[in-house]
Amino acid sequence: MKITVLGVGGMGSRFALMLHQGGNDVTLVDGWQANIDAIRKDGIQANFNGKPVSAKMPIYSPAEIDQSGVKADLIVVFLKSNQLDAMFKRVQPIIHKDTYVLCLLNGIGHEDVLSKYVAKDHLLLGITMWTAGMTGPGHVELSGDGEVELENFEPAGEAFAKQVVSVFEGAGLNPKYSHDVKYSIWRKACVNGTLNCLCALLDCNIGEFGKTKQAPELLHTIIDEFAAVADKEGVNLDTEEVYNHVAATFTSDIAGHYPSMHQDLVQNHRLTEIEFIDGAVARKGEQYGIATPYCKLLTQMVHVKEQLVGAK
Ligand code: NAD
Repeated sequence: MKITVLGVGGMGSRFALMLHQGGNDVTLVDGWQANIDAIRKDGIQANFNGKPVSAKMPIYSPAEIDQSGVKADLIVVFLKSNQLDAMFKRVQPIIHKDTYVLCLLNGIGHEDVLSKYVAKDHLLLGITMWTAGMTGPGHVELSGDGEVELENFEPAGEAFAKQVVSVFEGAGLNPKYSHDVKYSIWRKACVNGTLNCLCALLDCNIGEFGKTKQAPELLHTIIDEFAAVADKEGVNLDTEEVYNHVAATFTSDIAGHYPSMHQDLVQNHRLTEIEFIDGAVARKGEQYGIATPYCKLLTQMVHVKEQLVGAK
């Protein structure tokens, strides 16, 4: 399959490498010039489960794509949510009438942004449990295993979504065609909507937060707000199961992990995805007339912290 990976950070590099190794024709588009230069010179360089792996693929900046003639069957998006709108505005020439877009970003409501640029029946949504981290321009740390769950946004996209599942299978990405991806997206958003912002604001890892007396009540209250809004969107979250799913991380092998929002905000002073997580719940809550005070406060506090650290 002809695939463009849009956003070649940690996750984009992982998917590009694995899809390339799986025999697909992969092109890269990214907005970070130092990263483009490094990949153009030496390819994506990965520490892949302890082994050095590198692969060269054509890479373009948004300013270059007019001349590039890039035409893909599938665009796999791996930007941060807060980069989505601005980047899609700039890369419209790579979206043709037959192009499908797959979004596996964390958070809620990406379809509202993407449907401004892509027909809804060419939109595929999902989640992934794969992980990745950048160690510098063109360099990524890829360890462990993962999975992908995806589904077409509208029924007309089903055949292509199933084709993508088969291509991802060939690349070892452990995909699954989902019959209720919206549920999985909301369930994963509850993990990010609790642990990401709380660990970033409190400057602690998952296990440290989990040991505090207030952790259970905070989790329950935030998850209840997510569930009340999800319900209005046709998703009936099992809040006890979701709570147990999040709380299980406190004593798991990721207890020592600092969630990505901690890495972005505290460690690297980057803007966060909060507007697509707790911020999305607060906004949607307001539209539906549902009170979401915790999500609103957490969103505001993350924005305050962004300003305090001069996040970009
Ligand atoms: P990332 O920050 O590594 O990359 C996203 C974009 O930001 C890329 O275009 C990259 O080039 C650019 N970028 C990265 N560092 C930069 C810097 N210092 N200066 C300028 N630009 C920079 O993001 P990611 O971790 O690949 O995440 C992409 C999406 O996938 C997000 O929605 C995230 O929540 C989700 N996700 C991530 C993981 C993970 O383990 N990283 C796992 C599951 C889902």
